[in-house]
Amino acid sequence: MKDQSPNSWEARADAHSFYGFTDLPTIEKRGATVLTHGTGPYVFDVHGQKFLDANSGLWNMVAGFDHKGLAQAAKDQYDRFPGYHAFFGRMADQTVVLSEKLIEVSPFETGKVFYTNSGSEANDTMVKMLWFLHGSEGNPTRRKIITRKNAYHGVTAVSASMTGKPYNAVFGLPLPEFLHLTCPHYWREGQEGESEAQFTARLAKELEDMILSEGPETIAGFFAEPVMGAGGVIPPSVGYFQSLQPILQKYNIPLISDEVICGFGRTGHTWGCEAYDFMPDAIISSKNLTAGYFPMGAVVLGPQLTHRLQKASEAIEEFPHGFTASGHPVGSAVALKAIDVIMNEGLAENVRNLTPYFEAHMERLLENPNIGESRVKGFMGALEAVQDKSTKTPFSANLSVSERIANTCTDHGLICRPLGQAIVLCPAFIFTESNLDEMFEKLEMSLKQVFAEVA
Ligand SMILES: *Cc1c(COP(=O)(O)O)cnc(C)c1O
Repeated sequence: MKDQSPNSWEARADAHSFYGFTDLPTIEKRGATVLTHGTGPYVFDVHGQKFLDANSGLWNMVAGFDHKGLAQAAKDQYDRFPGYHAFFGRMADQTVVLSEKLIEVSPFETGKVFYTNSGSEANDTMVKMLWFLHGSEGNPTRRKIITRKNAYHGVTAVSASMTGKPYNAVFGLPLPEFLHLTCPHYWREGQEGESEAQFTARLAKELEDMILSEGPETIAGFFAEPVMGAGGVIPPSVGYFQSLQPILQKYNIPLISDEVICGFGRTGHTWGCEAYDFMPDAIISSKNLTAGYFPMGAVVLGPQLTHRLQKASEAIEEFPHGFTASGHPVGSAVALKAIDVIMNEGLAENVRNLTPYFEAHMERLLENPNIGESRVKGFMGALEAVQDKSTKTPFSANLSVSERIANTCTDHGLICRPLGQAIVLCPAFIFTESNLDEMFEKLEMSLKQVFAEVA
């Protein structure tokens, strides 16, 4: 297990690298996994052990770990023009081309794109855009941002405030003016005797009640992931967006679709908003945007927000915002290639073709007496571990069941992620049937082992 020698990679990782979002007792016992390279959907550690990565890195390495075309696109662009900014009216040609492409593949007829280096910064940027344009339009009180509990929108002070997770309390977050609605998870949040449609109606009423009690003139925008990702793969309850969107429209509240995970094929559609048939006012993209080969995020504004932000900017002669590496030429070239690879080289198609196969495996696992719910949309899935299926009672938190399952999987050569009491699976878009078989075989072996210990 953990290599204890002082010069081991594990010891060196401990000595000078800080771990984010990492269970430190697990590291204490098992050591860090230090990786050297990957092939297809597999990664290899410094000891030569091979792992099937059922998480696509962090949802993003959807084309696998050795895609020649993506690496070549980066190399070519490094040779042509290795870096530039997008301030003062200057911008790399590849950035211009990428914006055209993003609007072309977006659900919007027209629009404009603003670049960042991450999804958190893209959400942060969107909030600043809303504050800026509401202020410019004479509505400076429109400051409040509505999201949902369990939502994940990032880690900057603003995007962490949008994230609806209790762990942010250690930072004294959320900031004031960030409001959280009930998570649209019918299985967990539905009340006794309540149908799914009634649940959705209750959540829509909760939104309208919140808008009215806070005052519509104080609300800047509503952000939602089409399927909640880091909240544990939670698809919305039936009719959710259809019920909420008219309320938002009634009070002139922009709807922002955070597509950092759902965008570019994860749900089996190009966008999550297409999968759930709603039209947002803007889209937030990152992760899949470059298939993980370059850090990049984007705010894709639809026609109305484009127009309003343009006017607000003209009024003071600029939009005073931007990151040094916004619209990086190498990132832009990589994103252009990634979009092409996902949409035209069969990756999106592979997700659509293999989703029924993935679903069938997930459905079968529901037969396990300790799996309470199986959730799937496209190539994202979660299995909810429960101690008692009939009452949906979770295991006691100090058993760390999902952590143990994930660690056991790692021992069997499978990387998957514990989230709350769920195990999350989000395979790369290049997964074959046989990769899926291997993933489920290793997972089931681990489930059996851990449930035998704790049940
Ligand atoms: C990962 C994620 C973010 C944050 O992106 P970073 O690049 O990690 O800052 C925002 N929104 C969603 C839905 C995400 O999954």
